[in-house]
Amino acid sequence: MTRPIVLGAGPAGSMAALLLAQGGSQPILIDRNAEVGDAICGGFLSWRTAQGLRRLGCDPATLGARPVTRLRLFAGRHKAEMPLPETAYGLSRHALDSALRQLAIAGGAQLEIDRARRVAPGVVEGERRHWESPAIFLSTGKHDVRGEGRPRKTDNPALGIRVRLPPSAQLDRLIGAAIELHLFPGGYAGIVLQEGGSANVCLALRKSSLLEAGGDMWAVLQAVGRDNPHFARCMACAEDRLPVDTIGAVPYGWIAQDTEEGVYRLGDQAAVIPSLAGEGMAIALASGAAAARSYLQGQGASRYQRNFARRAAQPVRVAKLLWHMAESPAGAHAMTLASRIVPPVAGWAMRRSRID
Ligand SMILES: Cc1cc2nc3c(=O)[nH]c(=O)nc-3n(C[C@H](O)[C@H](O)[C@H](O)COP(=O)(O)OP(=O)(O)OC[C@H]3O[C@@H](n4cnc5c(N)ncnc54)[C@H](O)[C@@H]3O)c2cc1C
Repeated sequence: MTRPIVLGAGPAGSMAALLLAQGGSQPILIDRNAEVGDAICGGFLSWRTAQGLRRLGCDPATLGARPVTRLRLFAGRHKAEMPLPETAYGLSRHALDSALRQLAIAGGAQLEIDRARRVAPGVVEGERRHWESPAIFLSTGKHDVRGEGRPRKTDNPALGIRVRLPPSAQLDRLIGAAIELHLFPGGYAGIVLQEGGSANVCLALRKSSLLEAGGDMWAVLQAVGRDNPHFARCMACAEDRLPVDTIGAVPYGWIAQDTEEGVYRLGDQAAVIPSLAGEGMAIALASGAAAARSYLQGQGASRYQRNFARRAAQPVRVAKLLWHMAESPAGAHAMTLASRIVPPVAGWAMRRSRID
């Protein structure tokens, strides 16, 4: 029996490995890290992500996730607040990825630790050894592997940046059960409380905006706070300059329209939805499930990929539109105004940027 290889044990890879194992195909799940880290992410689990997890018997609430019931939108001093269509959650990636990896292993996936250097149909060249299989599930997420890299077209890419604020009563009062989106020229910052009460502050920022601030992330955060007193109050909950994690050149909006035979692309290797929508993890789970089912039903990778590209097209298109609007002061103001005056518009945008 040939065993499929799942490369990358993030949400997409663990989901695929679990379903492949349940389908009896004994997958090998390879990750470069033996210890689950805390990936750079906003930590917002949309209601679609929560549904996907519950279907696996993994309730976010049992992982300590904080319920999120409202969206609070800021553009400088303009503000709008509205209920989310359904309850979402705030949860660290360490907690989520650990639970999913554990589920995959308990379900029968064999975990191997190796760092892939190159991938081609039928082959994964690892640092430790050479792996072969006619079916490779590529789920290395934000990280491209040589041989299967994603195109990077822009000279002003989006960077992902994350700071964690320690738990405090003041943060609890300021954020509560909301996901906050703070829009500013060249980017946005999302803030949500997670298990244990710490706050995840995650930004998607154009490289040019960081360069204008002399490459100093804290100067960017201070500049946002000067126009937006609520953001400044949140950031004041951090006493010192806390560590800042960054990831470069996120190819927001990219969708794999097709693939090579035997290479199933999952998660961020299948579609990169602008993170402002908070739907990347739902896409990761949905693509992991769809690819595993296609494989178990004997359908080729190419058919799966084309179908998934069609499925991801609408949420990615809507999220891209919102992201581009949010980047300009006029667009950001229009978004908060529209959300305040015609709340159903915001509800519509939130629903249309979900994966079905
Ligand atoms: C700034 C930012 C904020 C975001 N905020 C949110 C949010 O709030 N909500 C949301 O739903 N989505 C959010 N996203 C998107 C979300 O993080 C991704 O869509 C999601 O992580 C994709 O999951 P994945 O399984 O495809 O990849 P990943 O989560 O990136 O996992 C990839 C796995 O592959 C492993 N790996 C990588 N390279 C190799 C290699 N060479 N060899 C072996 N193993 C390897 C890694 O160790 C990792 O375990 C955000 C993204 C960014 C950039």
